[in-house]
Amino acid sequence: NKQVILKDYVSGFPKETDMQVTTGTIKLKVPEGSTGVLVKNLYLSCDPYLIILMKKAQTSRYFISLTPGSSITGLGVAKVLDSGHSEFKKGDLVWGTTGWEEYSLIKTPDSLFKIHHTDVPLSYYTGILGMPGLTAYAGFYEICTPKKGEYVFISAASGAVGQLVGQFAKLMGCYVVGSAGTKEKVDLLKNKFGFDEAFNYKEEHDLDAALKRYFPEGIDIYFENVGGKMLDAVLLNMRLHGRIAVCGMISQYNLDQPEGVTNLLNIVYKCVRIEGFRVFDYYPKYSKFLDFILPHIREGEIKYVEDIAEGLESGPAALVGLFRGQNVGKQVVVVAKE
Ligand code: NDP
Repeated sequence: NKQVILKDYVSGFPKETDMQVTTGTIKLKVPEGSTGVLVKNLYLSCDPYLIILMKKAQTSRYFISLTPGSSITGLGVAKVLDSGHSEFKKGDLVWGTTGWEEYSLIKTPDSLFKIHHTDVPLSYYTGILGMPGLTAYAGFYEICTPKKGEYVFISAASGAVGQLVGQFAKLMGCYVVGSAGTKEKVDLLKNKFGFDEAFNYKEEHDLDAALKRYFPEGIDIYFENVGGKMLDAVLLNMRLHGRIAVCGMISQYNLDQPEGVTNLLNIVYKCVRIEGFRVFDYYPKYSKFLDFILPHIREGEIKYVEDIAEGLESGPAALVGLFRGQNVGKQVVVVAKE
């Protein structure tokens, strides 16, 4: 059973060599009396939070740390090979928490979702039809409380979550601008995802001036994925009663000392509401979300871009690549194609 294990705790920026591909053994059968399921892993999801789990002094107490020597645990799409659980049977396709390995024995499968719609690519359940999709949906519709015609700004806009938030905002009739780290991503935002405008934040030495250029009247909604300097510049450009949905702050995850944000008083001046959210609190709404998103995908109204890395061996580089902006769209690792 080929596995990706955590070699040692990640300190500072993650490196490929923090992880290692090894081979272990696994019985391809659920042990007698167990209520677990044995799965063959098909697609693994590269998510920024995984690196937080790999740090010794975690910045969040909401996750359970990974321990060096054990295989990485993350979200993925898998096929059930054997089951001791009444809700799952051999042949079922599922998505949820699994291991970065060829086969996994999932001892408590309660958090697995059964996949019922297979007319869309299975890998989509790591992204648009999985956790990142629900994140975009809950974050935009519930936390941002959007209204038609509002001015919306999204950072890390071409990524798994950002590309969807931008398209939801367009469906709502908002004016939408995204920032991303390369020209290719900026083109994607404008030409594929239908953003009104997009810019490369790495080419802007003055983020405040860049935001004033795209939002002369200010920002009603900021969907925050990056934190740091971008958040500081956004605070200077919020409109009265603006909302900031804090989804994540990827620029801060690997810093020993988080960057200071200096423009917080604008929260008072502009009566801004800043609200964080955790996608797992919205899992009970998953089936409602699927009913919403599937027709949009089938009718081609929502576009979706994935970045596919082939084979478990490519997992460490793909995961670390998120922090260098190497992924164009949702980063997926293919372990097997059924
Ligand atoms: P993405 O697919 O957007 O990949 C990460 C992207 O972040 C990179 O491609 C890169 O894009 C950008 N990035 C990396 N480092 C930096 C940096 N130092 N400064 C600015 N941008 C950077 O990831 P996801 O869509 O999966 O996640 C987006 C955010 O949402 C993350 O902050 C994540 O932690 C958060 N999240 C939160 C959840 C919740 O429950 N609240 C659930 C899921 C995700 P670029 O080239 O544009 O810089």
